Amino acid sequence: MKEMKVTLLRITQDAEDLIASAGRVCYASEPKTPDANRKLIGKLRDMGHLSTFEHASATFLIECVSRACTHQLVRHRLASYNQQSQRYVNEQGFEYVTPPTVDKNPEARKVFDEGVENTRRTYKRLMELGVPKEDARFILPNACATKIVVTMNFRELRHFIKLRTGEGAQWEIKKLAQEMLAILKKDAPTAFGDM
Ligand SMILES: Cc1cc2nc3c(=O)[nH]c(=O)nc-3n(C[C@H](O)[C@H](O)[C@H](O)COP(=O)(O)OP(=O)(O)OC[C@H]3O[C@@H](n4cnc5c(N)ncnc54)[C@H](O)[C@@H]3O)c2cc1C
Repeated sequence: MKEMKVTLLRITQDAEDLIASAGRVCYASEPKTPDANRKLIGKLRDMGHLSTFEHASATFLIECVSRACTHQLVRHRLASYNQQSQRYVNEQGFEYVTPPTVDKNPEARKVFDEGVENTRRTYKRLMELGVPKEDARFILPNACATKIVVTMNFRELRHFIKLRTGEGAQWEIKKLAQEMLAILKKDAPTAFGDM
């Protein structure tokens, strides 16, 4: 199984300039220089004037994550998603994500891999029996690897990242949120630099 891969497909051009412009509509007095933009965005962020952050958004392609992870991701409603379909894509020989607790335990790893192999065989057999993909998929595990495109505005990204990098967050979505944050910090350092 390959590693989780997070790719930034698009981000609002001059995102921080746009956020500052929106903020400047509220406080007409700010000068329009990069330094003034940074100060204004920091002020908007710290005072919770986050509707200004909604004007900028980012789109990510996320690959090689489990369906368990994407199920948590899509609970975030203020976002747009497209995910690889198990209705239309043949999942014979599906790739899967192995949790670290299983991976580092040789006996558990063996049991896990055998379980996946059995599931692959069952899926294939169901297909041979004429069951359509959309029904054969009912046997597939949460471990199944998938890919998904997500678009969120900066306000929702901050919310998502805060929740999903927090103490109670599950390891895989935490890793995903951390990778997204690392990318965003490069492209929008003021909007995400405090996280
Ligand atoms: C550590 C952790 C454990 C979790 N465990 C469980 C669990 O056991 N079971 C479970 O079902 N879920 C669980 N969740 C999911 C959680 O309940 C949320 O569904 C998920 O985090 C999405 O966040 P959100 O509700 O803030 O939605 P988002 O879509 O990210 O919404 C952003 C914000 O918009 C506002 N908003 C959006 N929709 C509405 C609305 N309809 N009404 C009012 N305000 C709205 C809220 O302020 C919300 O915070 C868990 C989440 C975390 C982080």
